Formats: sequence, structure tokens, C-alpha cells
Amino acid sequence: MGETLKRNTKQKSAVRHALSEAVGFVSAQQLHQVLKNHGSSTSLATVYRALNELVSSGEADSLQSADGEFLYRDCGEGHHHHLICRGCGQTVEIEAEKVESWADQVAKSHGFSSPSHTIDIFGACGPCQKKVAK
Ligand SMILES: [Zn+2]
Ligand SMILES: [Zn+2]
Ligand SMILES: [Zn+2]
Repeated sequence: MGETLKRNTKQKSAVRHALSEAVGFVSAQQLHQVLKNHGSSTSLATVYRALNELVSSGEADSLQSADGEFLYRDCGEGHHHHLICRGCGQTVEIEAEKVESWADQVAKSHGFSSPSHTIDIFGACGPCQKKVAK
């Protein structure tokens, strides 16, 4: 049991490291490929598990892309939102003060307590707009 735990921790830190080097949001498959390229034998299932653990401990953010795929990112601390380019995956971390008070009010008006929310905005960044225009 102790051995398994140690191995899991090692694989988790490898996943965390690969995630920290990724630019913008990446899928579990992409990270699995990166780890493979670095000679790691970590399975895709392990990558998924490690990512889920990182998300639940607040070390990573996850979101669902427009086509339903789960994406992950090593994120800044604290609550924030994302503006993500559909074309290239470039991500900007944004604050949304109006959304915070709106979400709290809506929850309260329905008698809900301790509300949380996930809001990410998808669009096309400047360079990607130019690509489409041509
Ligand atoms: Zn973030
Ligand atoms: Zn873009
Ligand atoms: Zn928020």
C-alpha cells in the first residue's frame, strides 16, 4: 500500500509538472503524450486520476471545451474566470466582479447558500480572427 502511494505521488508530480509547462488549457490526452515523450510510462488513466486530484485540491483548473472535451490548466491562485481562444487555446485569466455579486444574489433569492460557479468565455483571439478573415 505504501509503495503504491509513493508511486502515485511521483506520477502526480510528473503530471503537475507537465501541466505547469503547458501553454493554456490542455487535454488529458495531450498531457499523456507529453509525459510519454519524456519517457514516462504513466497510463492515461493515471493522468486522468492525477488531474482530478489536482483539480479537487485547487492546484489546477478544469473546464469543458465547446466540443465537450475536458481541459486542464495549472492556474493562478484564487477564484477567477477564463477567456479562451477556440482557435489556439490561448487563455487569459479574468476577474468578473459583476458575475460574483450576480451569482450570490441569484443563489440567495432561491434560498441557496454557499454558491459557487464556473464561468469561462470562449472566443477568437486577435491573430485567430485574422486567420479566419483571410
Ligand atoms: Zn485560471
Ligand atoms: Zn487564437
Ligand atoms: Zn466568479
